[in-house]
Amino acid sequence: MSQYDTQVPEAEWFSLVMRCPACLSEQKEPGPAAQWFHASDDGFVQVGSSAQYRCTSCRCVEHVKSWRYACEAHQTDFRPTSSAHLANALSTAGQITSVAGRQWMQRFLENLGEW
Ligand SMILES: [Zn+2]
Ligand SMILES: [Zn+2]
Repeated sequence: MSQYDTQVPEAEWFSLVMRCPACLSEQKEPGPAAQWFHASDDGFVQVGSSAQYRCTSCRCVEHVKSWRYACEAHQTDFRPTSSAHLANALSTAGQITSVAGRQWMQRFLENLGEW
């Protein structure tokens, strides 16, 4: 067990594979679901039921609220989303629904809040 796992025992982490929540919030075609990477170091990003993202490279952990997104449609333009659109993007991501399951999603939503 790593030191990190000890700090947040309740979070279960999954690879962040989803459509672009920023495009969703702008009513634009978000394109297919894809793995997200941390812009500063290209590390794989994971999402936890704590409503946090973590980068598997630099190990930073932050609430999803403070992150911005750049997809293929706006590669250098990092855009925000809303809690509702992020929840939408995640709840339609195959891995979250099939592997993580409804309980995970429920916890995620509780920790997500509204913004
Ligand atoms: Zn986008
Ligand atoms: Zn990183």
